[in-house]
Amino acid sequence: YFISFEGLDGAGKTTQIELLEGWLERQGIAYVRTREPGGTPLGNEIRRLLFHQPELNVTPLAEAFLFQADRAQHFQTLVLPALAAGKVVISDRCFDSSIAYQGAAQGLGTDLIAQLSQIATQGHAPDLTIFLDLDPAQVHARTSASDGRREEQSRFDSASEQFHLRLRRAFLQLAQDAPQRIKIIDASQTPDRVHRTIIDLIKSRLI
Ligand code: C5P
Ligand code: MG
Repeated sequence: YFISFEGLDGAGKTTQIELLEGWLERQGIAYVRTREPGGTPLGNEIRRLLFHQPELNVTPLAEAFLFQADRAQHFQTLVLPALAAGKVVISDRCFDSSIAYQGAAQGLGTDLIAQLSQIATQGHAPDLTIFLDLDPAQVHARTSASDGRREEQSRFDSASEQFHLRLRRAFLQLAQDAPQRIKIIDASQTPDRVHRTIIDLIKSRLI
């Protein structure tokens, strides 16, 4: 069973994934936690190229292909084998992020990025996608408050509110187009409430 988490930076994906890990452990359910980009050794190299080598001036299209290369490696070597072994896979982001960030917000086109993603995943998709929905104004408040303890600065912390609005609209559109797979959760609620909502969604599907 494959669960992905999506949302703007600061929506609480990491917190919710950690809470879900605790729950899975208490249930004795075997799982693998991973992320895009970066779930594999190649993915971590791609992550470094994307986020720590600004002097490379990676173009938006080249960047989109790097995210897809990460994804191809991720699905072939990690996601699909773990699912075949009967494990639950939890991924911090998947192709919906590419559609929203590279397709919509960066302007490469959502159809193009969806097609590339289809190739990279060999046609596979998460069984369930949790979209942690937060108003861009609240995202800004959260990301500035947590700057000190974050592993990496978001590349978009200083991006315009317009950019974040485009992103949010893209995620909401994706959820509208795939209502069975993508569940929207109001991420302005307390972490514990969000967690309970996620467990309610997952329980019926996993147990
Ligand atoms: O979620 P995470 O912190 O791993 O993402 C790192 C950065 O890459 C974030 O700023 C995120 O918004 C961005 N990103 C992106 N396109 C993707 C996935 C993540 O621009 N497909
Ligand atoms: Mg994060």
